[in-house]
Amino acid sequence: MHGLIDNYQLTVPAILRRAATVFGARPIVSRSADGSVHRYTYREMAERAHRLGRALRRLGIRPGERVATLAWNHHRHLEAYFAIPSIGAVLHTLNLRLHHDDVSYIASHAGDAALIVDESLLPLVARLEWPRTARHLIVMRDDAATIEATRRDNWPESIDYDTLLSSEDAGVIDHEVTDEGSAAAMCYTSGTTGRPKGVVYSHRALALQALVLLTADNVGLSQRDVVMAVVPMFHINGWGLPFGAALAGSGLVLPGHRLDASSLLSLIASERVSLSGGVPTIWLSVLHMLDAQQDANDVSCLRALIVGGSAVPEAMLRGYRERHGITIRQAWGMTETTSISTVCTLPTTLDDESLATQYGWLARQGTPAPFFEIRARGDEGLIPWDGMAMGELEVRGPTVANAYFDEPGSADRFTDDGWFRTGDIVTIAPGGCVALRDRTKDLIRSGGEWISSMALENALMGHPGVAEAAVIAVPDPKWDERPLACVVLKPGASATAEDLRRHLEGAFAKWWLPDTYEFVDEIPRTSTGKFLKSALRDRFRTAGPKSVDPA
Ligand code: ADP
Repeated sequence: MHGLIDNYQLTVPAILRRAATVFGARPIVSRSADGSVHRYTYREMAERAHRLGRALRRLGIRPGERVATLAWNHHRHLEAYFAIPSIGAVLHTLNLRLHHDDVSYIASHAGDAALIVDESLLPLVARLEWPRTARHLIVMRDDAATIEATRRDNWPESIDYDTLLSSEDAGVIDHEVTDEGSAAAMCYTSGTTGRPKGVVYSHRALALQALVLLTADNVGLSQRDVVMAVVPMFHINGWGLPFGAALAGSGLVLPGHRLDASSLLSLIASERVSLSGGVPTIWLSVLHMLDAQQDANDVSCLRALIVGGSAVPEAMLRGYRERHGITIRQAWGMTETTSISTVCTLPTTLDDESLATQYGWLARQGTPAPFFEIRARGDEGLIPWDGMAMGELEVRGPTVANAYFDEPGSADRFTDDGWFRTGDIVTIAPGGCVALRDRTKDLIRSGGEWISSMALENALMGHPGVAEAAVIAVPDPKWDERPLACVVLKPGASATAEDLRRHLEGAFAKWWLPDTYEFVDEIPRTSTGKFLKSALRDRFRTAGPKSVDPA
């Protein structure tokens, strides 16, 4: 229709333009390998991103081609985040924590045309099966890194990233991408539940995702925030935080590879970080350090932590709020949903309720972001939103994948009417607040009934002596499966299997209680820092019912 408003395309270069012009002086702080910090502004970042875009074009990178990054969170990686999509190519963030065979599989499945890698990761690159499609190797040198990797014969001549940029002219690149429906980025699922699969994000999906992060009931990013992106930039587009921060004009802090509690706390204090995001395991270790008062850093600047990727134990919500005055907002999302898609905040109806009720609510995964639609399906069809019925969560929206990249056999992940089947078992409360009970494959099926491993873990981590807990199913001749709890005690703490059992009694039906408690030194992690339950299942497959006293 004449006069219809439909002529503006939502693209990554549009985000960059806004950051460079409206918020040009806002800071980007990046930690190097030696602990020193690099500082510059959005304006300077944009200038270098344009140089990189021009350089990639000169190297022959064409629209639609995938350019991979293998890098920690730092300013050069951020430049690639903007430069690659701006020239119409596809930013493919490789997960540096995966086994090299998986990285090789992913890079060749994606058909990457070039790799931009951290110098410190060259030893990993040297173990890769070099993708046949890759014509260029660009190395980002950290001033402090002195890693020498044996050059492999089939590598192209490596190009130094900074030299590449300095040989280009300054100024905005010509012919930026203009089609919001074209491919901008790509991530692979980390393969926790099978072979890694590629998800391709359009400019529109990334732009809408970034915009949603600015809404108050979501992350609520603003130009008053200083955002520290702890979540790796290779994990689901860094949960959209780099794009969201640029769109909002938030200061951005990139912690490099130093993700230990002490390094994070010192960066929070020195840069006056107001908001950060990452998986619970990271924030659990930070909480332990804060509790042990081993850290004198002033973290009063933190307004919120966005925590997701796996369930946030209620004890962690309480610990941060009550002992350190820090609010946690739990978020849920998947590689297939572009990033954070539900966030939990307190509805006004619970304002006058007890703290216990409020924490119980905040331990949920939250309500859907704008335009993100949810429903859940049980054995008898779609379940009611009553907070009790359980079913598999199905989702749709402008940021939800409708196919995997070059993976024809995965149609069963989508319903006939086009919703994505998440594999997460949930309840949905009135108003659409999702509570995740388990991943389908983590549910424990005992005597024909389901036991939620997540609920048991959550409760176990509320015991004062428990640092971490993961509950898995072990085969049982009578009941099919029974729960087994793997527990890491806090340093210096003691608790017996009987103590833990007593702690759970009362909160759960008797048949839910784990038969066996294994006290372990640590719980293995996935490449994105989640508990790797498949490794525990392999290890304790034959552990029969027995209550072990760690003493
Ligand atoms: P993977 O975990 O397989 O590596 P993703 O990083 O895409 O892949 O993770 C998506 C999954 O992570 C979800 O399907 C869900 O099971 C889990 N998840 C994400 N956020 C939460 C959360 N807040 N609580 C519990 N589980 C979560």
